[in-house]
Amino acid sequence: MECTHRDLLDSLLDYLPAYRLLVCRLHGACVLTSHLQSHLRKQHSLSSTACRALWEELQAQSETRPLLGTDRDLRTYLQLPTTPISRIPQLPLWTGFLCPMQDRQTGLPCRRIYRCLKNIQAHCRNEHGWKNPQGQSQPRKSAASQIVHFVKVSCQMFFA
Ligand SMILES: [Zn+2]
Ligand SMILES: [Zn+2]
Repeated sequence: MECTHRDLLDSLLDYLPAYRLLVCRLHGACVLTSHLQSHLRKQHSLSSTACRALWEELQAQSETRPLLGTDRDLRTYLQLPTTPISRIPQLPLWTGFLCPMQDRQTGLPCRRIYRCLKNIQAHCRNEHGWKNPQGQSQPRKSAASQIVHFVKVSCQMFFA
């Protein structure tokens, strides 16, 4: 039996209907259609002709499998879950840190997640005006209120 472009596409990429994104099976991360041809050419060593054919196959499927194609689509349409969800099996699982602070404007829990402690501390400094008491040479008593415990959570990333 001949291997169709559809078969090849399905062997390389999984479709996440809830997010309208494609996940590269080999790399465990989403790839936007606008980056797909160069991704397949550079990371998977596919020929330009094959990449083009796969891209056309995707266009042909766009009625049944709509996709967010560009960075702009992502910013406009991608809805990230605001409450914990079950694991998306196609994406790897990481450990991250959950932001325990409140959004200054809305007063709602921020709940952003960062994989690295340094980055979440930077986020809390920049977004929430937090001061890290451990970074001060002479920790003052008043700084005690600033001690924040970053809770470790499991998380996943659409894009690496
Ligand atoms: Zn890949
Ligand atoms: Zn935050």
